[in-house]
Amino acid sequence: MKVGIDLGTTYSTVAKYDKQTSKTEVIPNIFGKELTPSVICFLENGEIMIGEDAKDMQAGGAGIIAASFKRGMGDTGFNVEAYGKTYSAEQLSGMLLKQLITDAENQTGEKIDSAVITVPAYFNDFQRTATIRAGESCGIKVLKIVNEPTAAAISYGYNHSTDKTVMVYDLGGGTFDVTIVKISGGNITVVGTDGNHLLGGKDWDAVITKYVCEKFEEEFGVDPREDESTKNELIVAAENYKKVLSKADNVAIQVKYAGNSGKYTLTREEFDVKTQQLLNATRDVIINLMDELQIAWSDIDEVLLVGGSTRMPQVSEFLKKLTGRNNVIDHADTDLAVAKGAAIVSELYCSDKHGLSEHKIVDVTAHSLGALSTSVDGKRYINEIMIKKNSNVPVSVRKPFKIAEGNMTDKIEVYTLQGEGKNPLDCYVLAKVVISGFCNIGDGAIIDIEYTYDENGVVQVNAYQDGEMLDVEADPVPEDISWMGEAPGARPSDVPIARNIVICVDLSRSMKVSIEEVKDSIRDFVSSVSNDTTKIGLVGFGDKIKIIRDLTEDSNMIVTALDELKVNMLGRGTDASPLGTALSMLNGKPGAKMILVLTDGIWGKRDNAVGEAQMCRSAGTAIVAVGFAEADTAFLRQIATVEEGAMFTTLDRLGETFSTIAMAMNTGSMGLRESTGEKARLKR
Ligand code: ADP
Ligand code: MG
Repeated sequence: MKVGIDLGTTYSTVAKYDKQTSKTEVIPNIFGKELTPSVICFLENGEIMIGEDAKDMQAGGAGIIAASFKRGMGDTGFNVEAYGKTYSAEQLSGMLLKQLITDAENQTGEKIDSAVITVPAYFNDFQRTATIRAGESCGIKVLKIVNEPTAAAISYGYNHSTDKTVMVYDLGGGTFDVTIVKISGGNITVVGTDGNHLLGGKDWDAVITKYVCEKFEEEFGVDPREDESTKNELIVAAENYKKVLSKADNVAIQVKYAGNSGKYTLTREEFDVKTQQLLNATRDVIINLMDELQIAWSDIDEVLLVGGSTRMPQVSEFLKKLTGRNNVIDHADTDLAVAKGAAIVSELYCSDKHGLSEHKIVDVTAHSLGALSTSVDGKRYINEIMIKKNSNVPVSVRKPFKIAEGNMTDKIEVYTLQGEGKNPLDCYVLAKVVISGFCNIGDGAIIDIEYTYDENGVVQVNAYQDGEMLDVEADPVPEDISWMGEAPGARPSDVPIARNIVICVDLSRSMKVSIEEVKDSIRDFVSSVSNDTTKIGLVGFGDKIKIIRDLTEDSNMIVTALDELKVNMLGRGTDASPLGTALSMLNGKPGAKMILVLTDGIWGKRDNAVGEAQMCRSAGTAIVAVGFAEADTAFLRQIATVEEGAMFTTLDRLGETFSTIAMAMNTGSMGLRESTGEKARLKR
């Protein structure tokens, strides 16, 4: 039997296509449920629970829980330790898949031999191949990897015969995606896709947790979050309260901690107000994509709601306002559309070995794909985009590259970059291959390099000389790629690159609620990035600016200095911009220079800040702007050096956001490691 599997971050689902009835059906798990929690629990006695049981354990606080591991797919740094064993995200996904398959086999009495598995549209080559391997590790054939929104659109298109342009609004547990799809006959053509991968249902839960804990603290003077297990229980409870609010006007909440019991009521109206800014963040992504594709609301016939979080009534209300229409929203199959779409693909789109299928899917690439190349003047490395973002796949592009005259090399290294920037260090280095077997006598030989994105979104590089295929061998990507930011010829540099980081923390009055968590996250960040060649400085700002510590290699000094940060110590407002001060601290320092700004509010004198950000940019100093609570995304974008460096997050996600930044410092994305005075990629 063939199945479709929606391997979700929080829940997973298995579906099959019945050829007799031409209908899709979801195969429930052994508890009779259509959705299986994507959770694994390891117990000390060696027992491993997967799915429903594991989720129960999560609420109870026993054992070691692996959840949301899909976020770590393809990331070698992501591991879960459990009683002396280490599991990668790929292994955990394999274990979950195995359980899903076994359950489905038990329910149907049929053996499953192959499957279509869905992944988020933004998954890159690593994450897709990791998913394929996870599937193969349970002994099935992975017929195809399909993007989740595309699968949802397929399921919808299969049930609606008229031609339409559909927007898929997918708000899951941890991510948000928007995809625009044209449905015509049996064909599905994806026009474009974008998303925010730090935004999802969890952030709505966090608003409730915060509200409840603040109420409790007001009443009893203690914050229940100070106890780790109470905090975890509250996080699980908050999700349930949120679900109640999707049906009822209000929810009664009870919290017991430290001998006290607090009772509160949260109305849906209050909840909607408190979470409005999260919805607004989804709007920013949508508008951005529509601008990019030059699509207007009048072009969209239907908005398809996918993902558990679209069950919140606020989502349809918000989309009605945004589209200006009442009748464009379809939420018929919110949770199951992805799995059903995958099931349809497993039968109708994969059975076709001889081109007999009448159905065709044309998907798109979520990221641009390029080759490391040198600029025309030979002065710097650039990302030569081969396949543009939102191109239809499968696709192959071939471009000629000339070996410099006088260069007699018999090998060429090709680096594959993923990203939109011209500067290679703003991109993610996907792979390296070495091409050999060509003829070169130093007369400027021309090699054709071909990039292919196959229909699973997996990348392949081929090379040709005069139409003859050359040898292409994969090589590991070197750890230090900072030379891509230097003039060609300067590499290889084995010396670790010096880094200078100034962290600027908002200390205005609104930070009162979050300052301790902010300090904790900064402490973690400082310890994780500190090394012999990294210098860190600390600046506080409000209505005034204060250098708390000048740049130092001693990370302990910064960790201790964080204690000095007090809300209101520099005034109650945010009239001062710290960027100029930070820039003067960094001026003349060798190596990469970056400023990390943390703020939760709107600044008094934005024009000053934008002007100072401009100065930083021309001085080759990168700015990453992290905002939460009342902070304004548009402003963050104005001051950040590159778009990805403007990060709107929530308090509970701060730790995660900092890890992303630490990772970017190593890979050189987000405009970090900018060590020359060269202008970073221009912003839209
Ligand atoms: P993913 O694809 O990321 O695994 P899902 O699409 O399964 O996520 O959505 C899970 C999210 O949906 C969770 O945050 C969950 O709390 C939320 N959710 C599920 N049902 C409801 C509901 N009735 N009301 C509000 N949120 C819900
Ligand atoms: Mg999903």
